[in-house]
Amino acid sequence: MESGDILTCCTLCPRQCKADRTKSKGFCGEGKNIRIAAYKLHMWEEPVISGQNGSGAVFFSGCVLRCVFCQNHEISTEKKGYVITVQRLSEIFLELQSKGAHNINLVNPTHFVPQIISALDLVKDKLDIPIVYNSGGYERVETLERLKNYVDIFLPDIKYFDSALAVKYSNAPDYFNYAMSAVKKMAEITGKPVIENGVLKKGTVIRHLVLPNCRHDSIEIVRRIGKAFKSDDILLSLMSQYMPVYKAKSIKELNRRISTFEYESVVQEASMYGFDGFIQERSSAVEEYVPKFYDRPKE
Ligand code: SF4
Repeated sequence: MESGDILTCCTLCPRQCKADRTKSKGFCGEGKNIRIAAYKLHMWEEPVISGQNGSGAVFFSGCVLRCVFCQNHEISTEKKGYVITVQRLSEIFLELQSKGAHNINLVNPTHFVPQIISALDLVKDKLDIPIVYNSGGYERVETLERLKNYVDIFLPDIKYFDSALAVKYSNAPDYFNYAMSAVKKMAEITGKPVIENGVLKKGTVIRHLVLPNCRHDSIEIVRRIGKAFKSDDILLSLMSQYMPVYKAKSIKELNRRISTFEYESVVQEASMYGFDGFIQERSSAVEEYVPKFYDRPKE
């Protein structure tokens, strides 16, 4: 099936809704047109992604997961964003590069993979910074295959091991199996991480956000990653900045920040596998750090 055709019977993500996105929308809430909420130099990714100058982030509207604790719920589920053409997206990539971005950071791109590939095809010869695919980890390997020769860095989450949690918080009972297969494919595509002058040039960084009352699930995720990869195959980013926002405010077990004990017990488990990567100061979990992504930038 050609890139454009898949949008008439969409199976890009594990939901496999088979929506005809030329006429309607699937679970992700998006049709055939690219919609973005913002693009900007972004300083709040891992240090190897943001570097000194920032990461050239493009925030795509809609989402294949729609987690109850989504910090970006206004753009993932509440329709914030605006339509752009493939041509315009390719120009945005060049604009971000000319502003000094260390990379092009495709934030939440899964449901727009064919359109992103078309945009990259237009400017591939002019882009000399890495392309980062920054996703929630709910991916099909068939879709990731399309990204070979386009993406240099994958930045996926692994959110849950337990399918009961995946159902409750993201309505995705099969989340872990898809995410684990996805990160293996991503690491195969990128090869081992390569860092030059403190900035990642290629490789896969697996992220995990520790949730309140879920430390055993987090520890199981770390164990599974530890069994699946050698310590130098990937980088691991353990995130502590969870804040109860959006629907999580009304879910009792999610309505608090994580404790130092919860976070440290996950970090402790990770340290046993020798992965290189990132841990966060827990003081970074303040509401001011939740970016407002939906302001339409000046064109
Ligand atoms: S990308 Fe959207 S339309 Fe396509 S299968 Fe996933 S949720 Fe359905």
